Amino acid sequence: MANKLLMAKSPEEAIGAKTARDAFLAGGTEVNRLGSETADKTDTLISLKKCSGLKGFREEAGNVTIGAMTSFQELVDSPKAPEWLKEAALFMASRTKRNMATIGGNIAAKRDDSYLIPALSAAGAEIGFIGRDGKKGSIGIKEYTGGKHDVLITSVTVPKDVKLVSKRYANTAQSHAVLTMSAAMSDEGIRLNGAVKNAGLLHFCDLEEKFRKEPDVSEEDIIEMVRTCTGLETADDMFGSDAYKRYLIAVTAYDLHRQLRGKEA
Ligand SMILES: Cc1cc2nc3c(=O)[nH]c(=O)nc-3n(C[C@H](O)[C@H](O)[C@H](O)COP(=O)(O)OP(=O)(O)OC[C@H]3O[C@@H](n4cnc5c(N)ncnc54)[C@H](O)[C@@H]3O)c2cc1C
Repeated sequence: MANKLLMAKSPEEAIGAKTARDAFLAGGTEVNRLGSETADKTDTLISLKKCSGLKGFREEAGNVTIGAMTSFQELVDSPKAPEWLKEAALFMASRTKRNMATIGGNIAAKRDDSYLIPALSAAGAEIGFIGRDGKKGSIGIKEYTGGKHDVLITSVTVPKDVKLVSKRYANTAQSHAVLTMSAAMSDEGIRLNGAVKNAGLLHFCDLEEKFRKEPDVSEEDIIEMVRTCTGLETADDMFGSDAYKRYLIAVTAYDLHRQLRGKEA
């Protein structure tokens, strides 16, 4: 149980003070959530609230770099934030929570119902960080979410004008989502990423390839492909049956693909 709080004044102080048993405190909506494991397993919480240089937006060469401590509401309010990212930030329905929660905290939480990670992954976001050795670097979001990186996220860089569409399914706006999926158009074709409750953060490479090779593939073919896919580990749980989740993934991928190609969903 966390019993110490350190108010770091700079990103360097924050990462320099961190041991493997400590955690950063950004907006605190995950760390302080009832039932959160983070606070239980932590000795010291290192608050990032007074760290200089971790907030705001910088535009450069068609990209926008967003400070890790930028809140969801600041994303929604900023004319510099891309519309597709605002849409994903608004999946967090509570304005009170949007005022607290940060983009860096959402990425680091790596939740299987993540509001932002599917959209950021489909957009090909780059994560800026400082490592425990004090070195600065950047990695792709898929590499970050797929591995264990004990780093301080300092920023997220995304292309401003990428064509990207998202969809989220939950019983109510405040409930956990069974599926959040995003699709973006890139030079190589469609990019498809999702968060599937109790299955994880997924990159749908097989579907991407199918849409690339057969842009006019039928919805029935996509439903059958996902229904019989052996690499997909969905399961029956309180969010729905395995068959339901597979159906939802298939029809959503198909709809997002059609939206990107300018056809109605
Ligand atoms: C009722 C409720 C429902 C929720 N539902 C959802 C949901 O459906 N989807 C969802 O995605 N989230 C959900 N959350 C969790 C949370 O609100 C969001 O994930 C939020 O974006 C976390 O951001 P934060 O700034 O509050 O992070 P914090 O709680 O401060 O931190 C979260 C984690 O990230 C680490 N961290 C924070 N900032 C950094 C950084 N800059 N570098 C490295 N590590 C960092 C912390 O150490 C901690 O482990 C829910 C929370 C509550 C209370």
